Amino acid sequence: MLNQYKLVIIEDEEKIALMTKEYLEKEGFVVFAAKDGVSGLSLVKNKSPHLVLLDLILPDMNGLEVCRRIRQVDNTPIIMLTAKSQETDRVVGLEVGADDYIVKPFSLAELAARIRAVLRRTMEQDNQQREEAVITRGDLTIDTEKYLVKKNEVDVELTPTEYKILVLMARHPGRIFSRLQLLESCLGDAYSGYERSMDTHISNLRKKIDHSNGNPMIVTVFGVGYKFNG
Ligand code: CA
Repeated sequence: MLNQYKLVIIEDEEKIALMTKEYLEKEGFVVFAAKDGVSGLSLVKNKSPHLVLLDLILPDMNGLEVCRRIRQVDNTPIIMLTAKSQETDRVVGLEVGADDYIVKPFSLAELAARIRAVLRRTMEQDNQQREEAVITRGDLTIDTEKYLVKKNEVDVELTPTEYKILVLMARHPGRIFSRLQLLESCLGDAYSGYERSMDTHISNLRKKIDHSNGNPMIVTVFGVGYKFNG
């Protein structure tokens, strides 16, 4: 039911925040608003919203940084609110994990439609992921219940870190991960290395699963990180 969805809007322009909040409440959403990054992040933490609307330019913190911090914790969908001139930021925003963006000034009806589309997509992905205990990508099979990885039917021995990287990437073919994202998702707070140490994990992982003929499964995205080719 749509009227059970909770949203957090992080936007310092009061007029936009208020109009958006009122409109979305009429549409049946429960909306919490914050005027800056710090209070926005704590709202997200306390309210566990289904989706976050995030302005890019906030008084205390860049919206991209807010986006990155939310992503460190979970996969709450994020729609960025951007100005026309912020095209580069939009691209970076999508790279650091935002799900969609809308350009200001936007129509509230369109925003509501985008919100519903992103919510629908996320639910479908969640369902798929739950079902996908065995991930099959090309000649690679990962049984996430038995912690077994096979390449061409042959068992592959991976370290726990390599295994986590592989599962994360293989679950999201085509999505670009930065080294830092991979580090944080795989090692949590415990990571002590720096981003380049991810290159070693990736390189070892490649030796084990990527002896394919010039068609690598894990590709370097120059200047950003890596992605899994499904
Ligand atoms: Ca702003």
